[in-house]
Amino acid sequence: MTSRTLPIDDRLYRYVLAHSVREHPELAALREATRDHPHAGMQIGPDQGQFMALLVRLLAAKRTIEIGTFTGYSALAVALALPDGGHLLACDISDEYTRVGRPFWRRAGVEHKIELVLAPARQTLDARLAAGEAGTYDFAFIDADKAGYDAYYERCLQLMRPGGVIAFDNTLWGGAVAAPAQDADTAALQALNDKLHGDERIDLSLLTVGDGLTLARKRLP
Ligand code: CA
Repeated sequence: MTSRTLPIDDRLYRYVLAHSVREHPELAALREATRDHPHAGMQIGPDQGQFMALLVRLLAAKRTIEIGTFTGYSALAVALALPDGGHLLACDISDEYTRVGRPFWRRAGVEHKIELVLAPARQTLDARLAAGEAGTYDFAFIDADKAGYDAYYERCLQLMRPGGVIAFDNTLWGGAVAAPAQDADTAALQALNDKLHGDERIDLSLLTVGDGLTLARKRLP
């Protein structure tokens, strides 16, 4: 029988958390502060945050992008993994949500690494491309409106250096992607998953981490 991903029940997930996660105190505090937020489910799990931090270090990333910051947990996880001169371009449209994270970024000593731009991400990415930043980023995390993923992907792919990695969140969408789509978000994720699978510009892996995390590495020319 082929080895496959284990079903993760609550007990096993607790074991994973206990044997993998080394959460910075400000990350733990920010997670706690967001726990009762009506959209708390939008926040990535601590195991995923740590995985992304490891990825940033494996890539020796210095210049990174995030599309969809919410209350700032993933931005803090990435910023903590960046070297002191590292940079995260954080794109979001909500001042109300992102303002929750800033005091935690400051107390963790990484606020200077995070450039938060409150504007539609397409606009922000287009401005960076127009400013000549194509090929200068090492890592991007896309976790925003699902209908926008493809537009964010095309722009981030231009902004990545060859060998740079784009991570897409929620690519399994609670399992809904495996059934006929009942809504626009599911259909958008299905179309993206199909496109990425056949896309010769990247190497990829769809990981069963969190709600599905696809890694796409920009191929060398
Ligand atoms: Ca998400």
